[in-house]
Amino acid sequence: MRFRSLESRIATVFLVLILVIQVVSFIAIRAGIDANARAAIGNELAIGERVFRKLLEQNAEKLTQSARLLAADYGFRQAISTDDRETIETALDNHGQRINASLTMLVSSDRSIKAATTKHVSPALLKLVLQLVDQTEENGGASGTAIVDNLPYQIVAVPVKAPITIGWVLMAFPIDDKLAVDMRELSSLQVSILTRNEEGRWRSIASTLLAPELASLLGQLQAAPSAPPVSFDLNMAGSEFSARLLPLGKDAGQIASVLLQRSISEAIGPYRQLQLILLILTGLGIALGVAGSILTAKRIAQPLRALAESAKQLGTGNYQGRIDIQRDDEIGALGKAFDHMQDGIAKREIEIRRLAYWDSLTNLPNRAQFVTVLDEALMQAQTHSTGQTGQGCYVLMMDLDRFKHVNDVMGHDFGDALLCQVALRLTQQIDAGRATVARLGGDEFAILLDRAGLDEARQLAAKIIQSLEIPLSLDDQTVDLGAGLGIAGFPEHGNDAETLLSLAEVAMYAAKQRSNGAVVYDPLIDTASKQSLSMLSELRSAIDRNEFRLYVQPKLMLGTGKVVGLESLVRWEHPVKGFIFPDNFIPFAEQTGFIRVLTRWVLEQSAMLCRDLSALGHHLKVSVNLSTRDLLDQDLTNKFADILTRYQVGPASFCLEITESAIMDDPVRAQLTLEKLHTMGVDLSIDDFGTGYSSLAYLKRLPVDELKIDKSFVLNMELDAEDSKIVRSTIDLGHNMGLRVVAEGIESEAVWHLLSGMGCDQGQGYFMSRPMPADKLVGWLAQWQAPQHRDAAPELIR
Ligand code: C2E
Ligand code: CA
Ligand code: CA
Repeated sequence: MRFRSLESRIATVFLVLILVIQVVSFIAIRAGIDANARAAIGNELAIGERVFRKLLEQNAEKLTQSARLLAADYGFRQAISTDDRETIETALDNHGQRINASLTMLVSSDRSIKAATTKHVSPALLKLVLQLVDQTEENGGASGTAIVDNLPYQIVAVPVKAPITIGWVLMAFPIDDKLAVDMRELSSLQVSILTRNEEGRWRSIASTLLAPELASLLGQLQAAPSAPPVSFDLNMAGSEFSARLLPLGKDAGQIASVLLQRSISEAIGPYRQLQLILLILTGLGIALGVAGSILTAKRIAQPLRALAESAKQLGTGNYQGRIDIQRDDEIGALGKAFDHMQDGIAKREIEIRRLAYWDSLTNLPNRAQFVTVLDEALMQAQTHSTGQTGQGCYVLMMDLDRFKHVNDVMGHDFGDALLCQVALRLTQQIDAGRATVARLGGDEFAILLDRAGLDEARQLAAKIIQSLEIPLSLDDQTVDLGAGLGIAGFPEHGNDAETLLSLAEVAMYAAKQRSNGAVVYDPLIDTASKQSLSMLSELRSAIDRNEFRLYVQPKLMLGTGKVVGLESLVRWEHPVKGFIFPDNFIPFAEQTGFIRVLTRWVLEQSAMLCRDLSALGHHLKVSVNLSTRDLLDQDLTNKFADILTRYQVGPASFCLEITESAIMDDPVRAQLTLEKLHTMGVDLSIDDFGTGYSSLAYLKRLPVDELKIDKSFVLNMELDAEDSKIVRSTIDLGHNMGLRVVAEGIESEAVWHLLSGMGCDQGQGYFMSRPMPADKLVGWLAQWQAPQHRDAAPELIR
C-alpha cells in the first residue's frame, strides 16, 4: 500500500486518530485510578485510625469493668479500711493475674501509692497515675496510655468507695500483639506498634508485618533524620505503602506509636486489573479501528481504483469494460454515472466513426474507409499471393457523366436521390462477400474486387456500365446516365492503396475522354497525358509565334445557292508536326482552359475578315464556335463587345455556334451567357444538333436563332433512310420552333437537293467547299456557281 494512495491516507488518518484517542483516554483513566486509589487509601487510613482509637477505648472500658469488680469487692474494701496490707496485696495480685494485668496498684486517699505489683514506679508514670486519679472525680473512672520500661501500656483508674472514696485501683495492660491482630482483623491495614527511646532508637513491640518488611521499616525510620510526619509513603521490600503514625504516649523522651500501613499496590490491585482490561480493550479498539479504517479506506479506494482503471481503458478506446459497483451511496452513483458516460462516449464514437468513414448520403463507405478496406485486402493478397490468377485485388473507379448538369438543372435534392439510386445499382451488381462499393466523393464511386483476376474485374466493369445504361427513373423523370470507369489492381499495376486509386483514376479519365465505358490502366495513358502537358506549353507559344491559321467554310442558302455566311475553323501549323486539325487540339485546349485564348483569337480574326469582306461588298455572317469554357467565362460578352467596336463590325454580322453538350455542362451559367449575347444582337446557333441529350423543353427556353443538324445524319442521308427521316423531322422541328435550320456535312449535290427539298434553309459542306484559308475566300466567292435546281427523288424525301 503506497503511502500516497488515498486508501493509505484514509487508513493512516483513522489510525492516528484512534491511537491518540485511546492513548489519551488510557492515560486519563490511569491518572484517575491512581488519584482514586490514593484517596481511598487515605480514607482507609483515617478510618483505621478511628477504629484503632475505638479499639483502645473498648479495651479501656473492659479493663475499667474489671477494676470496678475489684473496687467493689467487700473483702478488698474491708482490707483497705483496716489497712490490711497483706490482704490488699494478695487481692491486687490475684485479680491482676485473673485479668492479665501487667500492673495493679492501689492509691490511697492521700494520693500516695499504697500497694503495687511493681516496685519501681517512674515519675512519669506517677504523674499519669495522679492525673487519672483526678479524672475519676468527674467520670467515676479514667483511662490513658503510658510507657513503662519502653513498653506501651493502657492504664485504667477507678475509685474505691465505702461509701466515700477511700482509694483508687489502677491497672495497666500492655498494648501488644493482641491489639495489632485485632486491628488487622477489623481492617485491611498492617499494624505495627513501635516505640522510640531517648536515644532515638526505634523498636517494634508488635507487628502484623512479615519479618523482612518490618526490618526494612525500622531501618528506614532509623535512617530518617527527623521524626516522621503523621502521613507518609514508604517502600518496603519492594512494595509501596502509605502509612499513618499515631502517637500512643510519651514518657521522658520515650515515645510509643502505632503505625498503620496500607499497601498501595494491594489497594491499586483491583484497579490495575481494570487497567489491564482497559489496556486490552484499548489494544482491541486499536486493532478493530485499524481493521475498520483499512476496510473503509478499501471500500472507498477500491471502487475509485476501478473507476480510474476503466477511465484508463476509456482513454485507450476500450468501451467494453463494465464498472461493477453495487452500492447505493455516492460512489455507487459515481460508478453509474461513469457507466453512463462510457455508453455515451461509445455511442458518440460510433457516430463519429460513421461520419468519418461512411458517406451519410448513400450509407456507403467513404474514401477513408475504402482506403482502409483496400489496404487490408492488399495485405491479405500479398501474404497469400501464390502468383496465380484469381488472387488479385482490383479497384474500379467510376465517375458519372453529366452529373453536374443534372444537379444544376434538377436541383440538389434530385441529384442526391440520383446518387442514392446509383449506389443501389452498384451494390446490386456486386457479390457482397468479395466486393465493396464506396462513394469517394461527388459523383465518383469506387468498387473493390477482392480475390479476383483482371478478367473478372473487366467483366464486373462491363456489368456495371451495362446496369447504368438502363435510365434511372426519379420523380417521373427519366435520367440517362453514362459513366467512365477505370480499372487498376494488384498484382498488375501496384501494391498499395494510394497508387491503385490514382492509377484507376487515370484510367477513368481516359475512359471518359474516349467515352468507351471501362479502361484498364496502361502506362501509355500516362505517356499520353505527359504528351498533353508538353502540348499545353506548345499551344501557349503557338499564339505568340502566330502558328494558328484561320480557315473558313462558306454557308449558303440551299434554295438559291447564295453565299450568306461562313464558319470560322481554326488550324494549327506546327513547325515540326505540321498541319494539325482542330479535333487534335481543341478538346485539349478545352480541358486546360486555353480555349478562351484561342476563341478570342478566332473572334478577332473573324471580325477582321468580316470588316475586310464588307469593304469589298461581301456582307457575310461569320459563325464562330464557342466551347463550354467560353460559356462559363463571365467576361466573354465584354471581350466580344470590345472586339466588335475595335473592328467596327455590328453584332448582327456574327453567329455563335454552341454544341448541346457545351450548354448542358453548366446549363444555368450557359443560359445566362447566351441571354447576354442574344441581347447584344448576335445570332446563336445550336451546333451538332441531334447528338446531345438536351431536352426540347429545355432548348425551347434558350434564346437561339439557328439549329445546325449534325453532319453524322447528313453525310449518308442519301443512302440511309433512317438518317433522312431524322434530318427531315429535325428540319420540321426547327421550323416549328421558329428557328433557321442549317445542315452541315453536304458532300454531294444529291444531298443538297434532298435537303433543299425538305425545306432546309442553309447548308455547308465539302460539296460547296472544304474549309479554306481566309484569304482564299474572296477568290472562291468570285468563281462560285450554284448547282442547277432540280427536284429530288420523292422516295428519298419520304
Ligand atoms: P464543327 O463545328 O462541327 O465544324 C464542322 C466540321 O465539319 C469541320 O471540321 C469541317 O471541316 C467539317 N466539315 C464540313 N463539311 C464537311 C463535309 O462535307 N464532310 C465532312 N466529312 N466534314 C465536313 P474541322 O474544321 O476539322 O473542325 C472540327 C471541329 O473542331 C469543329 O466541328 C469544331 O467543333 C471544332 N473547331 C474548329 N475550329 C474551332 C474554333 O475556332 N473554336 C472552337 N471552339 N472549335 C473549333
Ligand atoms: Ca461548328
Ligand atoms: Ca458541327
